Amino acid sequence: MIVNKTISRLSRKVKRFKKVKKISLTVLMSGLVTISVLMTLTIMVITSYTTQKQALIDSTLSLNYASAVQMSQTLNSLFESMQKSLKQGADYLKNVDYTDKEQLNNTLDLIRKSSDYFNAVSLIDETGLMLSMSPYSQVSVGKYVSSEAAKAAVKAEASYISDAYLTPRTKRRIVFLSEPVFEKTGKYHGVLSGSIYLQENNILDLLFGSQLKTNNGSYFFIVDHRGNTLFHPNISRIGKNVSENTVVRKLLQGQTGKEQYINLEGVSSLAGYYKVPATDWGVVIVSPTQMVYDQLNRQIGLMLLYTAIPFVFLALLVLRVGRKLVQPFVFLADLVHQVDKGQTELPVVKPHWNREADLITRAMLGAIANFRNKTDQLVYDARTNMLTGLNNRRTFEEVIQNWIHEHISFAIVVLDIDRFKLINDTFGHSTGDEVLKQIARLIQLSVRPEDVCSRFGGEEFVVLLRNYDSKMAYETAERIRISVEESVLAVDRTVTISAGIAEFPLHAQSEAELFHLADNALYIAKEEGRNRTVVIQSVEK
Ligand code: GH3
Ligand code: MG
Ligand code: MG
Repeated sequence: MIVNKTISRLSRKVKRFKKVKKISLTVLMSGLVTISVLMTLTIMVITSYTTQKQALIDSTLSLNYASAVQMSQTLNSLFESMQKSLKQGADYLKNVDYTDKEQLNNTLDLIRKSSDYFNAVSLIDETGLMLSMSPYSQVSVGKYVSSEAAKAAVKAEASYISDAYLTPRTKRRIVFLSEPVFEKTGKYHGVLSGSIYLQENNILDLLFGSQLKTNNGSYFFIVDHRGNTLFHPNISRIGKNVSENTVVRKLLQGQTGKEQYINLEGVSSLAGYYKVPATDWGVVIVSPTQMVYDQLNRQIGLMLLYTAIPFVFLALLVLRVGRKLVQPFVFLADLVHQVDKGQTELPVVKPHWNREADLITRAMLGAIANFRNKTDQLVYDARTNMLTGLNNRRTFEEVIQNWIHEHISFAIVVLDIDRFKLINDTFGHSTGDEVLKQIARLIQLSVRPEDVCSRFGGEEFVVLLRNYDSKMAYETAERIRISVEESVLAVDRTVTISAGIAEFPLHAQSEAELFHLADNALYIAKEEGRNRTVVIQSVEK
């Protein structure tokens, strides 16, 4: 009983465990793995973000500075070549007859077309008079030059590069280069000038014009020595003064370098800047800082993606392992439940790969088997008469009730030892007990497995013969009676028994009535002299 109670209590606990939603081991394990992976990822993201951010900023700055240096050098060499080309033209003009206008025009055409440097080439004499021009302009030739740059060039009597300025009439942004022309005698005879329209078709625009952008969102712009924009990817910015810009200000102060700064539009930028010696211009290469962040985000996104794949595998693995680990616990819980419901067979369990799971499964199965043995023993004890090993009266009552309930026909035989008191009195109580045991064994041996023998009390036995009528029961009872009579028992005298028989459902329908009838038959057997079997003949009501 105690064991049954224990099992019930255990199974109630299992039920309660099922009802209250608790965290399963699988969820717990996958949760722990998820948390640790997420924490690792967070640390990875934070460290790579901080270290890579600075590295990317530094490398972008260095790259922009190197590009600015390279671009400045290109620009410088370009202007040097332009000057060289003008100088050669000026040398050639020494030998040209200035009065031959046509030859003069052809020479200037030749100089202009020999390179893509200049949009216009002109010859101005020492008084500022425009002698010739290519392409030829009726308006300008034969007139005195008006622009400050041209006047300054004539006055300089030396190599000259003007500031960028807007032409008074056509409003073109122009840079003006000139070389002095000397006669063979060495007399100064004016200047050969080349004009470059900054935003028109020429080699300068080809190399630095607005159509040209550096890759990956970076751009460059060029300013003159006053901070006016000469080239900019955004055409509307050309001509604007940007000397307030942090890096332009530094350029104007003669500095070169690289730095992160906020531009005039409030955008954080990474710039490299350098001077062009020939023209006193400055080249600035700029990358928006956001570009670095975008690159960084892309890198971190990729990193997360690459981490996600093994993580998914890990999570699946943990789920699988978790399930496998949980299996024995669920199995044991179910088993306790089944045992509680009356399952008798304990399963054969293979060793579990997890040591603890294996230990607990084995311990639990051992304990259940132990409980089962004890329960079986207790059940046996509760149903059996200890002295004879036959069923006790309670079991008999249970069986007869069941059979009646299930309408199984049977015969009841009530057996009583004749003059047993005398045996007790003569040979002692313990010898009497021995006789009881021997007779019980003889009764048991005389019936089939499906029949039920019980010790009803004292020296009285009851046998229920399944599917027997009273005639068949009579034969069995007689067999028992004769075997007792003929057996040599613990006493040196013949022991006899008497038997009374009734039949279900023929003689009675209730258990009490049936017993009463059989007992009456027994009484008659006693009355008639004992050592005999009597079947109740008629139902006395
Ligand atoms: P009858 O032929 O009329 O049945 O005579 P009887 O002496 O057998 O009947 P009675 O009912 O007078 O006596 C039954 C005796 O059985 C009384 C008691 O001493 C004995 N007895 C009952 N239970 C046990 C037991 O467990 N062990 C022993 N040794 N004797 C028992
Ligand atoms: Mg009796
Ligand atoms: Mg008796």
